[in-house]
Amino acid sequence: MFGRKTTKNIFAIFAEAPLPMKLVPAIGICPAEKNTAVSFLCDWAIFALRSIKRNYFQHVAVFNDSVRGKMLEEQELLGIAEQALSDGEFKLYFQPKCNMNNGKIAGAEVLVRWWHPKKGMIMPGVFIPLFEKNGFIEKLDTHIWEKTVQWLKTRIASGENVVPISVNISRTDITNMDVYLVLTGLVEKYAVNPQLLELEITESAYIDKSEEIINLSAKLMDYGFIVLIDDFGSGYSSLNILKDIKANILKLDMRFLETENKKGKDIIQAVVYMGRWLNMIIITEGVEKQEQVDFLRKIGCTYAQGFFYHRPMEQSAFEELIGNPKSIDYAINNYLSDDNYMPIDISALIQENVLGSQLLEKIMGALAIYSYKDDKLHLQQTNEEYGRIIQDKGLGKNAETDIIHFLDKRTQEKIKQNMKKVLLENVPVDMIAALEKRDKSRYWFKIRLFTVAELYRRSFFYMSIFDVTESMGKFFDND
Ligand code: C2E
Ligand code: CA
Ligand code: CA
Repeated sequence: MFGRKTTKNIFAIFAEAPLPMKLVPAIGICPAEKNTAVSFLCDWAIFALRSIKRNYFQHVAVFNDSVRGKMLEEQELLGIAEQALSDGEFKLYFQPKCNMNNGKIAGAEVLVRWWHPKKGMIMPGVFIPLFEKNGFIEKLDTHIWEKTVQWLKTRIASGENVVPISVNISRTDITNMDVYLVLTGLVEKYAVNPQLLELEITESAYIDKSEEIINLSAKLMDYGFIVLIDDFGSGYSSLNILKDIKANILKLDMRFLETENKKGKDIIQAVVYMGRWLNMIIITEGVEKQEQVDFLRKIGCTYAQGFFYHRPMEQSAFEELIGNPKSIDYAINNYLSDDNYMPIDISALIQENVLGSQLLEKIMGALAIYSYKDDKLHLQQTNEEYGRIIQDKGLGKNAETDIIHFLDKRTQEKIKQNMKKVLLENVPVDMIAALEKRDKSRYWFKIRLFTVAELYRRSFFYMSIFDVTESMGKFFDND
């Protein structure tokens, strides 16, 4: 094989180096050609070398015809990129992000496709790395971001449905241009709410330029953009990153994790819980199978993006899809706005205790989950036992009835005060509440408030309710 001896010699040098670690060199070789300038030969050797970068099994690459072909192709693409951009060959594709509880669309990611007149469709995996190297990515991304904001603007102006759309930010964008200025400039130019534009920054970007990127994402969030950490879990310092970074959403890619085995599943589960405690939404990407959906729902992950739901699609197809308001899930945005409906599944909160929900129901009786924000309480979910009490006492027909509304103002205030206490001291608080119906019939309940979960920037409480009318009635009703 060409260069075997040279390679052996080079490896020997490294092997003999008196270092406390083992060094493994990566070598690019270019056979000398007559009449070719040395600078070219060096470039070609480096080009060959790049083909094995991050490949831990192959240490030597020779510049041969196939590498040359690849290089020429790359050079060709780079040479025509500028023209292609002005000819409108770069198209926006949309891949929906779905709520796994109902399959509805909560948002979408814009992914670029290059429609070359002769070569057909070229995938971003082919040209994005090239553009990141030669700096064209800044131009392309600025274009994609502007097209996205324009799209939002046009739809809003004509009264059509929109969902938040995310765009990708390359780490070289961050190094080479003022991303903050460009993005704020765009939403101001088109007067679009920045909450509708979500920004995906890959995890690896945070590792490389941590300080700069941490500040940038904090600034973008303060302005009102939604920031996502893309490909979370692909790097090695994912957990460290979460300590320092401000972001709204974590995107976890199933493809980075071997989900067939227990360990992969445990990792996903841990990330979902952790993200939750850090007040972040988790979107799982690369979801392709029903089993994956089942597993993710079970551990309380609500959102997914993947071929199981939709592949990336053309703009017109996406518009048709969200044209029907019933296909849209607005819940994901409510954690940012002040809407009261929350898409939380009681089982998601219960999962945090090791107890299964059936067991929990036996132990705890009637159970309701309330969210609490700005001194307002909102009933989120109830279990079957709760529904039984509501019906038994003739308070309503279904479990969505809020028992608190039947309590007098003073007791309602007391509940709020106790919730603050739970929040502050993180201990369960018990109280007794009397409920008097219009027909003067009176019931007594022992109410226990406990376990706060912080999700979507509000506090969640469990409220367990025991009917103690029989024992309490003996004391109070007869005197
Ligand atoms: P990404 O940001 O991680 O985007 C997700 C990629 O996963 C997309 O590939 C998408 O088509 C693919 N994907 C989604 N669900 C599934 C699934 O269930 N199974 C499989 N096998 N794949 C799935 P795509 O469109 O080829 O994009 C590749 C990468 O190129 C993106 O990875 C992103 O890093 C980059 N990219 C795409 N568009 C842009 C852009 O406009 N600007 C920048 N800077 N980068 C972009
Ligand atoms: Ca992305
Ligand atoms: Ca991703």
